[in-house]
Parts: sequence; structure tokens; C-alpha cells
Amino acid sequence: MSGQETEAFILKTRDSGEADRWISFFAKSGGRLAGLAKGARRSRKRFLNVFEPCNLVQVEYREKKSIVWIEACKLMDPHLGLRENAARWACGGLICELVIELVPEGEAQEPLFNLLKQSLWQLAQERYPLNTVLIFLCRLMDISGYMQSFSRCDICGRSLRDERFWRWDPVRGSLLCRQHGSADAGMISIDLGSLLLIEGIRKMPLESIWRLQFSASRRLDLVRSLVSWVSHHTGRGFASMKVIEQLEWA
Ligand SMILES: [Zn+2]
Repeated sequence: MSGQETEAFILKTRDSGEADRWISFFAKSGGRLAGLAKGARRSRKRFLNVFEPCNLVQVEYREKKSIVWIEACKLMDPHLGLRENAARWACGGLICELVIELVPEGEAQEPLFNLLKQSLWQLAQERYPLNTVLIFLCRLMDISGYMQSFSRCDICGRSLRDERFWRWDPVRGSLLCRQHGSADAGMISIDLGSLLLIEGIRKMPLESIWRLQFSASRRLDLVRSLVSWVSHHTGRGFASMKVIEQLEWA
């Protein structure tokens, strides 16, 4: 494969041996990838401050012997607004972790790149970071095929607006009223107002979804339920969620 040069977001990094680093990133033209940056721990000049999660970078990489080699990387936007605020930073970390868990490796997905770009930009100046995470996650679930339209209970046919509380199973694409859905780990408990917002997030143009507001008293619960649903299906925990649970939320 010839070399690629593209915009990308850094998702996660870890040291490899004495001198190198493994970089997990999401590239505009290549999707989610993991690559080796040779000498990244030694040569600070060559990769100055570029490999921090949530950074927007311009990366050059090459695939050789089924390994992605990162040859050059330039910082475009460090999203400083994330780094000066613990709540935003934790939410940025959660967004990166969700991409790693929900997006298959190596599929170019420009809609997802655009979503990530707008989410992190928005988050860097957001007063209510959990709201941005919710919008991001619902749109990500829609792009990944885990979102459906919500109209009535699958069992009794009760219509959406006739009931305040619902249970939703994104894998089966099933929506049940409280009488017919159980509160087990595979089902998300959700209120009518949040379901109507999710409908908006699915249907509106990307630029318009950021002004939608989940109710302040429900944001944390909903992030918790959606993330624990993802954990239930991937078998993976989320380190950022532990930080989010320790912070105070307005
Ligand atoms: Zn029902």
C-alpha cells in the first residue's frame, strides 16, 4: 500500500518497547487504525506533543507487512478547551473510547469523521459536556446501525406519546412500554422526552443537532445507561466513565 496523508484524530496511545509508541487514531481517509510511531518516545522533536487523545492532526502513514507505520504527524488543533476543564476532558476521553469500541477497524467512514470533528470542536467550548456526549453517542449509534425509529410498544401497540417511560433494546431494535419491558442489562430505561430528542438527532443535519438539549436531570443517567449497554455488548469497561462518575455535574 502506498503512503497516505490525511487528517486524523488521536484516540489513544501506549508505549511500545524502549522508544516507540502505538497510536490508535481515526483517519478521514482510512477510518479507525492503529499504527506504530518509531522512536516517538525518543525523538520528541519529530512528534512534538502530537500524540494526545482528542488532538486533530495531519498524519502520514504507510502499511507494510500488515503493520501501519506512522511516518510523520503534525498537530492541527489540540482542542485546548478540553484540556483546561476536567468535565470536558473526561467526556472527550469517553468519546475516544466509544469510537474504539463501536467502530470496526479499517473502514473509511467520512460521516463518522465529520461527527467526531464536530463533537470534539463543540465539546471544547461546551457548558454541558454530557449533553454533547449524548448527542455524539446517539448519532454514532445511528451511523453504526443501532438506531431505530420510535413509534409504539412492540407488544401492546401503545403509542409513543401515551407513555412517559420506555425500555429500549438497540440490538433487537425493540421498544417496549414499562409494562412489557424488563429492566435487565440488555435494555435501556429511557423517558419520552429523551426518545423525542434522539429522533431529532437521527433526522436533522449534523450542523443542527448540537443545539438539542437533554434534560439536565437526566443526562448523567442516560450516559450511564447507554455506556453500560455498550459495555454489555462489547464486554469492555470504560475508564473515562469512572472519572465521569466522580465529577460533580450541574
Ligand atoms: Zn406495551
